[in-house]
Amino acid sequence: MRHLYLHVPFCPTLCPYCDFHVVRRSAGAVEAFLARLEEEAAALVASHHGPLATLYLGGGTPSYLRDRELARLFAALPWSLESDAEVTLEANPGTLSPARLEHLRALGVNRLSLGVQSFQDPVLARLGRAHGAAGALEAVEEALAAGFRVSLDLILGLPEQNARADLETAAALGVGHVSAYTLQIEPGTPFALAGLEPDPDREAEAFALARTVLGDAGLERYEVSNYARPGEEAQHNLAYWRMAAWGGLGPAASAHFYTPEGPGVTERRTNPPLPRWAAGEPPAREAIGPREHVKESLMMGLRLREGVDLAVLAARSGLADLEQTLAPAVERLAADGLLERTPARLRPTEAGLDRLHAAVLPLWEALEAAYPPDGVS
Ligand code: SF4
Repeated sequence: MRHLYLHVPFCPTLCPYCDFHVVRRSAGAVEAFLARLEEEAAALVASHHGPLATLYLGGGTPSYLRDRELARLFAALPWSLESDAEVTLEANPGTLSPARLEHLRALGVNRLSLGVQSFQDPVLARLGRAHGAAGALEAVEEALAAGFRVSLDLILGLPEQNARADLETAAALGVGHVSAYTLQIEPGTPFALAGLEPDPDREAEAFALARTVLGDAGLERYEVSNYARPGEEAQHNLAYWRMAAWGGLGPAASAHFYTPEGPGVTERRTNPPLPRWAAGEPPAREAIGPREHVKESLMMGLRLREGVDLAVLAARSGLADLEQTLAPAVERLAADGLLERTPARLRPTEAGLDRLHAAVLPLWEALEAAYPPDGVS
């Protein structure tokens, strides 16, 4: 296990579009969270000792924890780190200051994922964000000045947004990484209940703009929604997309391990939400058999410009004839301009990245026609 995710569920405000596992902080809640985390980390390290290539603190808003709470959190993690390990912390602009940034550096954080979303006040107001445009700019500039690798999250395609202006601002700031998403209206969120609906044309236009504006600034699209300067790709997220093994700590965190002894190819472990996790309930475990493993690997791996290595997938899953099984569908998808085959890899084209489901679903259908259901759970 070279990758570890830690979920910190606390947020200062609950955004109306959010469907992550988040709670407001309340008296004693952070203390209880940290105490349970100490136990959980001590149990995990006994079987999965690292060292870690990546550590990712997500949420929630991990930067919303106080300095002494963050210090206790890091002290709870007994893993050593590889020499060039990537240690990322998700942060909201309103939770940073020069002193706070110095504290984070001292704890070993070297990369910040900033939930900026926009540099325009009306857009931030619509999103219900706690920060304004000036606070967003200041946070990015301070983080860069303090020596962090910085990734920005942007939400594109909103009615009152000038997407070009947001993208140009992000590019001009000199960050190494941008994640550009469209607003997902998840069922049950206040946005969904208010009847907000996405506008696919406006979103497609904003995505096309992202490619040109960020690409012209040297940030290449390496994943469906992610852009990076060379060497600035998110190593932790690459581990997910490449279906590496990773551990998960904290409420609702999930983990993914290879299980050479069976019953499946891999096992997914999903922690329960906060109250049950804090009470010590163990993760739900799900064995993933060869067919599902290949389906997941294709859906994740074809998000990446680099694509997947079908020979590796065949070896991991034990489906020795995988390449022959997929060959007719691959040929059709290549003719449609969605995939391209190199000697070693199957990769999405730019159109394939834009239409990921169209590029993957025929491969899934070919798998389902050729192999029986896995029969593990
Ligand atoms: S800050 Fe992020 S995690 Fe927290 S409620 Fe808003 S969108 Fe969700």
